[in-house]
Amino acid sequence: MNVLLVFAHPEPRSLNGALRDIAVAELKAQGHEVRISDLYAMGWKAAADRADFPQLEPDARLNVATASGEAFKTHALTDDVRAEQDKLLWADAVILQFPLWWFTMPAILKGWVDRVYSYGFTYGVGEHSDKRWGNRYGEGVFAGKRAMLAVTTGGWDEHYSDRGINGPMDDLLFPINHGILFYPGFDVLPAFVAHRVNRLDDAGFVRIAEQLRERMRTLFTAKPIPYRRQNHGDYLIPSMQLRPELGTPDARGFALHVDAVQ
Ligand code: FAD
Repeated sequence: MNVLLVFAHPEPRSLNGALRDIAVAELKAQGHEVRISDLYAMGWKAAADRADFPQLEPDARLNVATASGEAFKTHALTDDVRAEQDKLLWADAVILQFPLWWFTMPAILKGWVDRVYSYGFTYGVGEHSDKRWGNRYGEGVFAGKRAMLAVTTGGWDEHYSDRGINGPMDDLLFPINHGILFYPGFDVLPAFVAHRVNRLDDAGFVRIAEQLRERMRTLFTAKPIPYRRQNHGDYLIPSMQLRPELGTPDARGFALHVDAVQ
């Protein structure tokens, strides 16, 4: 199978760099083809801006979604964006690897999403009617592919537990897992998260490395997070609210969108 690893750490000799090498070695040992987008090494341009749309008239007002849709349709995207889209289409599984920075992904990776996820490619696709609301949340260009986050944190696992002060890790990662990965159709695996890594000793490293290897071995067999699919009856259209009879009465927030029965 084909695996794309998108790597967002500025230092190859970092813990993340070491974990990336471990993941890649294990994937290759399993017989998979691996490609890496090492965003800092590539000098990835993070900001979506006018330079992304050279076909735009100099005096035209920039609307990023419109310009991106037009460029996607007319094959006028910049080469760097097109290359990343090709890698995504090639991949059977995509891993986004990053250190948690201010409770989310580093800006360079967010910028990769902003620029690579063109209108017409990952959003703004499919029929909108009283039966469907576009191809999204379980449908879309990446349907049938898997995706997974590999994250390191300075904070302790308890700090990210249900009652931890940082908020539950599943909630922090929800906008990425659900909003960025499930939205265009990926089956999203539970994230690999290594906590409290700043003072990692050798034993800790060995333990984390083995956990990561195991996650690489099960990349194509692990059960995805059972997010509810948009166009399969769970949501009212067009309000996109979960049907009142679904979910436990006290459920609210992100947890509503995971089908606990599955
Ligand atoms: P490194 O600093 O490279 O290494 C960490 C430890 O692993 C070191 O002790 C090192 O000795 C050891 N190590 C490295 N390589 C190896 C190896 N090959 N073998 C054995 N041991 C090794 N944390 C949070 O929890 N929440 C946040 O919101 C958050 N925001 C941040 C924002 C910024 C801007 C920054 C810079 C940090 C933030 N952090 C936060 C902390 C951050 O998540 C961690 O510092 C990061 O995950 C550590 O990963 P690293 O690859 O940079 O580790």
